[in-house]
Formats: sequence, structure tokens, C-alpha cells
Amino acid sequence: MAVLGNGRNGHWRVKKPRKRLDVDFIISVDRCLMSDHHGKVFIGFAATGPAIGVPERVWKWICCPAPKVDEYGRPFVAPYALRKLEAALQDAGFKAYVIDPDYVPYYALQGAKALMIGHHDYFAMGPPSNEWWLLTGREPVNRKTFKAFISHPAIWEAKRRHGMRIVVGGPSVWQWEACREARKRWPVDTLVDGEADKVIVEIAEKILNGEELPPKIVIPPQESPRIEEIPDIKKPSVGGLVEIMRGCPRGCKFCSVTLRPLRFMPLDKIEREILVNLRAGNRNVLLHSEDVLLYGADVVRPREEPLIKLHKMVARHLEEYEAGFAWSHASLAAVKYAQEHGRIVSKIVDIVLDGDVRKFFGVEVGIETGSVRLAKKIMPAKAAPYPAEKWPDIVEDAFAILTDNNIIPAATYILGLPEETEDDVYATIELIERLKPYPSLIVPMFFVPMGALKDREGFKRAHLKPYHVEAMVVSAKHSIRWAKWIINHGYLNKPQHAPLRLALSYFVRYAERRIEDYIRKHAAELGVDASTVLRA
Ligand code: SF4
Repeated sequence: MAVLGNGRNGHWRVKKPRKRLDVDFIISVDRCLMSDHHGKVFIGFAATGPAIGVPERVWKWICCPAPKVDEYGRPFVAPYALRKLEAALQDAGFKAYVIDPDYVPYYALQGAKALMIGHHDYFAMGPPSNEWWLLTGREPVNRKTFKAFISHPAIWEAKRRHGMRIVVGGPSVWQWEACREARKRWPVDTLVDGEADKVIVEIAEKILNGEELPPKIVIPPQESPRIEEIPDIKKPSVGGLVEIMRGCPRGCKFCSVTLRPLRFMPLDKIEREILVNLRAGNRNVLLHSEDVLLYGADVVRPREEPLIKLHKMVARHLEEYEAGFAWSHASLAAVKYAQEHGRIVSKIVDIVLDGDVRKFFGVEVGIETGSVRLAKKIMPAKAAPYPAEKWPDIVEDAFAILTDNNIIPAATYILGLPEETEDDVYATIELIERLKPYPSLIVPMFFVPMGALKDREGFKRAHLKPYHVEAMVVSAKHSIRWAKWIINHGYLNKPQHAPLRLALSYFVRYAERRIEDYIRKHAAELGVDASTVLRA
């Protein structure tokens, strides 16, 4: 139901829930993240680009359909990080709820004290949004959707009328400072940079007491919450995502995660959160960590006992609820080490896959570069415990292990790293070519200054050289070929997925044609020979 709101900016439509909740703290984000992505989180990545080949409305239906909401306008699933904030605030006794973006204007006007937003790419300045944007010259859907969300007049009317505060956080909070117009156009009160599970309670107390908030709150790594200070989620998360550890010991220079302390979530905590999802009807378990195989590890050496215990516990529930399964991220060195030391990867796969509901699963992995020279400079421990000199072999060995075990990697590599040379990029191209036989997606990312390299210059369109284009074409052809295979081999195998399967197949064929057209049209401007590049 929609009601008419009004304020200084005229009249606007506000969607009203069937029943009203008493809400002091609205926790929300725009539609691109507040979606179940048809139960396939990977599809959500399509929102990082502009709509291609179909109207934007259809594109959004493909990548971020609205989830079910209850009578109060609370979504059935929400991003895990928002669920953590909700849990922390509710445990502290606050009236705080994740609210679907459609109902945020209503609760804002009803007198909410604050709107709290978490996001991993507010203004599409992070990968892979920024490269889609650079390449197509068109504003990505996720940026447009967030801007529409934060621009709703009811939010600013609520701020004017009763002083509703706006607090923004999450891994992309830096974009509020990097995007010059952002804070002028949308004068939010406070940026929160770091793990906010604990600090959010202090912020909420200050808001209720009418105290001033600083424009920015930074939680340094050493003040990151301890395990016992991290609350359990109370409602389902998008994709059934459940965190199994935080931090990463590898120290890659382009990454900010690595600055945080390493913490393993206890098994009973992980199990409770899995059951929150499954018992509510969310039929997926997505184990989240920067490197799932390092759960309980001896620094960078995976250990069989904690991994097997974890996956046995998960498998019991997967069978009971007939749920899907995936890992979020794994490092390729850990894949190789785990398999070579006790066939741990195969043992895990035997535990969680059943050849029916779960025939295979996916994981994100980072190739980053095929150049040993660059690997030694910017990510010396990414290959550990193997030497960085072996990086390309480690990548190929790990891909072979994943393929043998029905795990499909979605890999990224970085173009435009500081001090990158033409030879480095050709080494990457060579490595991608070695990976041809392995079912996988390989996607380029343009360097974004973060972590220890945050003061360096990011990669821009003007920096694009013919060898970058060649790398992109080689990886695009690889990904298109295997995307067709993945779509037709059970990724979307349920009858209700038929329209989505068709839409994705159409999109992949369309993308293939567009890439070829683009290369032919822009060959001279890019300084490449179209026929050579397209034959690659
Ligand atoms: S392995 Fe991944 S998470 Fe860990 S430091 Fe490197 S890029 Fe970051």
C-alpha cells in the first residue's frame, strides 16, 4: 500500500506496511544488496555493471529481485553485516530492525531516531563495478540504485523534521570521502570505518541521549571485537551466509582485510547461525571467510581436524534440510596444501556433496597476477607455505584440484597494479591460457588503492594499454565458454529457475557478441589488431 508523503520537496509516494512496528533504529540498504538473488548470490554481481541488452527493470529482476517481507516491512533475508548490527542493537535492548528499502521512507517519517546503512560498494568505486563503468562508460546499476535510495525525500524530510541521524559504514565507507560530491549532496552524520559490532551500541546510546556524533569513527584493527563480543544473527542472511572466521594472515599489500586480527568462530556459534537460516526456510549454507581452508589452521597451513569437524557439522544440517552449499573464498595455496597433505579437499567434498541436491559448489579465489616478479612484491605470502616463485604453478595445480573435486572457482585478477609492466600482464595472460581446461570464471579487476597501497594511484581508462585489452579478451572468452557450461550443468537446475536460466543464457550470448563488436569497433583507438585479439 502506498500513501502520499509531503515536505519541502513536494509530494512523494511512501509505501506503508500492513502493520506498524515501533522502530528507533532503521537498518537498511538499497535493493541491489537487499535481495535473495533467486537463492544464487553469485547472480547479484550482475548489479555491479550497467543493464546489458535488456531494460534496467528486467536486469534488476535478474540480479536483485525484492525478497519476501513480513507484515511490518522486514525482509525475509538481509545482508549478513546488517543482521549483525541488528543483533548487536537488539541484544542491547534497542528497538532496531532491518527494514526493506521499500519501507524505509515510511519508518523514517514515523519518527525513527536513526537510519544505519552498511554497504560494500556505495558509489561503484570498488571492483568489479569500477571496471564495468570504465569499459562501458555507463553508470552501474548498483550506484544508481543506491543513489535513488539515499536521495528519497522522506529520509531528508525526517532529518529536517525530527533530526533523524544517518550513519553509514561497511567495507566501502571510504567511498564517502573518495567521492567528493557525496557528503555535500547527502550530508550523512557519521562514517563508521571498521568492525562495528561493539561500537554500534555506543553510537545508538549517544543518538538516544541526543549527543553529538563525530563525523567519522574509526575502529582500529587492535580494537576489533573479540569473538565473545560478536553477536549471533537472529534472522536469515542473504545466501545463508555464515561467518566462520575474520581476518587473514597473508598480508597482501592491496588488501585491507589483512590488517585485522585473525579470529576463528567456535563451532557452536557457527551452527547456531546456520540453524537460524535453515529453520527459517533459507535453504542455503554459505561459509564465509577470506580463506575457508584456513579455519583452525596453523597460520597458513590448513589442518584436517577443524575442517572435517566443521564440514561434518554442516553436512548433518544440509541433509536434514536438503540445502545448497558453498564457500565464499579460499586461497589457491591453501587448496593445494590441503589436498597434498591428507587429501583434505576431497574429504570435505565427500562430506558435503551428495551428487543430487549438491552436485558441485562454487568459491571465489584470487589469482591477482601471473607474474612471479609482481607476486613477490605485492603478495609475497599469497603462495605460502610454498615459495612465491611457484605462484603460477600453484594456481594451476589448485584449479586442477578444484576441478577434480567438483568445485567451480570464480577467480579474479588485477590489472594496473603499481609498478606493473607489459611483461607482467603477458605473464598473467599466459597463466589464464594455462587455465583453459578448468571450468571456472576469470574476471579482471582494475587496481583500487587499498590496504598498504592506499596512497597509490588507481587504474583509470587512460591507463588502458593494448596488452590490458588482450588480457581482458582472453579472460572474457574463458568465462563465457565456461559460463555456458555452468548454466547448462546444474547451476540453475530447479524448474522455477527456467526463466532465469533462459535470461542468463541470452545474456551470455549477448555479452559474447558485444565483446567482439566492441573490439572490432575500437581496435584502432585501443591500439590492437582486432583479428589477432579475437583469435586469442
Ligand atoms: S589472501 Fe585475500 S584476504 Fe588475505 S590478504 Fe590476500 S587478498 Fe586479502
